[in-house]
Amino acid sequence: MADSFKPAYKRVLLKLSGNSFCRSGESGITMQEVSNVSQQIRRIHEAGVELAIVCGGGNILRGRDFAAVSASIKQPTAHYMGMLATVINGLALQDALENAGVPTRLQTAIRMEGVAEPFIRRKCIRHLEKGRVVILAAGTGSPFVTTDTAAALRAREIEADVVLKATRVDGVYSDDPEKNPHAVHYSDITFDEVLKQRLKVMDVQAIHHCQEQNVPIVVFNYQKEGNLVRVIAGEKIGTRVGPPKKDA
Ligand code: UDP
Repeated sequence: MADSFKPAYKRVLLKLSGNSFCRSGESGITMQEVSNVSQQIRRIHEAGVELAIVCGGGNILRGRDFAAVSASIKQPTAHYMGMLATVINGLALQDALENAGVPTRLQTAIRMEGVAEPFIRRKCIRHLEKGRVVILAAGTGSPFVTTDTAAALRAREIEADVVLKATRVDGVYSDDPEKNPHAVHYSDITFDEVLKQRLKVMDVQAIHHCQEQNVPIVVFNYQKEGNLVRVIAGEKIGTRVGPPKKDA
């Protein structure tokens, strides 16, 4: 695809899971991976798209998993640890983006003024309008949910046109394509179908948020060169989850 392109969306909420911060099958942070994704983000920022990014933390710690193997940790504590993990990722992403020449602000749902601004909806929108990429960390600030829910919630709050869920698979399938060779790939699916079939797109709460506000979700493989730009340009890649089509 040519270097310049016409974005199909004005304001985008990008959900980057923790595993985009490390190599496949590894954990922790590998700055090379963060830099790669930052280069893709730079291109969409240059195209004038207003971009807020919700960071996951699963490369460092997932509350539910950690509590399950750690008898002396209470579940809420583990979830708070997971939220702090997303701040660590947010800091890494901020430096990688700034290194790529992209102006950023980091906002957290748990206050930590020495490190980042608190999440304030109107301030976040103002940053977006001024052309800053806003990195949103610490999830919703509350335990027992995941950053998928945070992404959908923030998308509603900032009135994003779309939620982009960056993953390592090519979208949504009827089953795990790595285990079932007959799994069917969906290019378009409705919120209701996702809920009915219990498809693993995002948390149920996240789907409900998007459905209530009519914010479509596009699940795509960010690791394929240029895919993020293609999605933003409105190309049909991955899976689009949305309301039923009017002519359907
Ligand atoms: N988390 C939480 N509340 C939130 C968002 C996240 O308690 O609003 C915790 C939760 O324990 C979660 C962890 O932070 O497992 C890391 O986030 P997530 O699992 O969503 O990261 P990802 O899978 O996207 O890497």
